[in-house]
Amino acid sequence: MPEKTRLLTPGPTPLPECVRLALTRDMLHHRKSEFMAIMRRAQESLRLLFGTAGPVLPLSCSGTGAMEAAVYNLFQPGEKVLVAEAGKFGQRWGQIAAARKLEVVTLSAPWGKAVTARDVEEKLKGDPAIAGILLQHSETSTGVLHPVREVADICRRLDTLAVVDGISAVGICPCPMDEWGIDCLLTGSQKGLMLPPGLALLALSPRAWKKAEISPPDCFYFNLVKERDSLAGKGQTNFTSPVNLIVGLDESLAFLLKDGLEAVYRKQWALTMLARAGVSAMGLNLFARENFAWGITSVLLPEGLDGARVLRCAAEKFGVLMAGGQDHLKGRMVRIGHMGHVDWADVAAGLFALNQGIKEAGGFCGARDYLEQALAAWRAALAVSPGEALPVTHS
Ligand SMILES: *Cc1c(COP(=O)(O)O)cnc(C)c1O
Repeated sequence: MPEKTRLLTPGPTPLPECVRLALTRDMLHHRKSEFMAIMRRAQESLRLLFGTAGPVLPLSCSGTGAMEAAVYNLFQPGEKVLVAEAGKFGQRWGQIAAARKLEVVTLSAPWGKAVTARDVEEKLKGDPAIAGILLQHSETSTGVLHPVREVADICRRLDTLAVVDGISAVGICPCPMDEWGIDCLLTGSQKGLMLPPGLALLALSPRAWKKAEISPPDCFYFNLVKERDSLAGKGQTNFTSPVNLIVGLDESLAFLLKDGLEAVYRKQWALTMLARAGVSAMGLNLFARENFAWGITSVLLPEGLDGARVLRCAAEKFGVLMAGGQDHLKGRMVRIGHMGHVDWADVAAGLFALNQGIKEAGGFCGARDYLEQALAAWRAALAVSPGEALPVTHS
């Protein structure tokens, strides 16, 4: 049995020690001043992280709960929405919209590709009744980044809402909500935020709030207007807060932001370069060629190789847990998560475990010096001068 386990999955992600310690604190009362001070402090960091002047609401649910809350509060049954679907999580938007009895128009891209801003614009222009677009920033099932900045820009011009699932993007790659004009940005606790699952965070733009205020959401628990008002008025949540998770959040935000937001993105970018260079040097195919996500690298396995066996070997022999593919990519893909509290040594261990797993499953293993190549790419990415912009947009 390996002595250490390394969690290189796209959520949950490893917890920093300071967060683990914060989580063990005894209960604070969610209506008393000590807890409210923590809520207020967390708000300041959350606004910085989301890039918004508005409130960032904590919700007691996993990320999907925040997706549902967004759909129920922003749209009424019968309204039409455009869903960008290029993977498992895009499909989820469609399922939630259908549950809300919205009319769903789908814009699909093949798995491994992003939707294009041009196609989004065409769909929206062709149907002015579309009240919003639902999309992922990072589609975690394929490791692709959708052009959120461009899409939000189009949405502002065409007066429709841009609703963004940033669950595997917030705290991982830049997604400044106000600057880009995003109307709803949401995330979950167990990815870039380095917390256990169970807490979601959601923010709306002023025009999204206006829409949410028009009519109540036809559900009892996730009433965003009421949540906003109790946060603004009392620094509290409507119902009992997930106290430990918020105490942990306060700690994880301090840990994440200690060198500023720019440093977070530069670290994540460099780890992404490390993973991609290592995979390429091994002679494997990266599933997302362009518009690739940060924080997750999706790798196509050679034809005929048993992906489950690769993952099992990596876990059992080397203690490295990675994810497989979903749906038709099950058994054919490995997804290496490198978001949150993960460093170069973790990702290098992941590459090594992947390489050994492939060998054990009867595959080839590419260049001998794949780890050197990977680390050289990481160092080169870190050496980009601080003034130089990171590649945040689509080509
Ligand atoms: C992880 C993830 C989800 C699902 O979140 P849960 O916390 O499991 O509900 C949704 N969307 C994206 C993009 C994700 O990465």
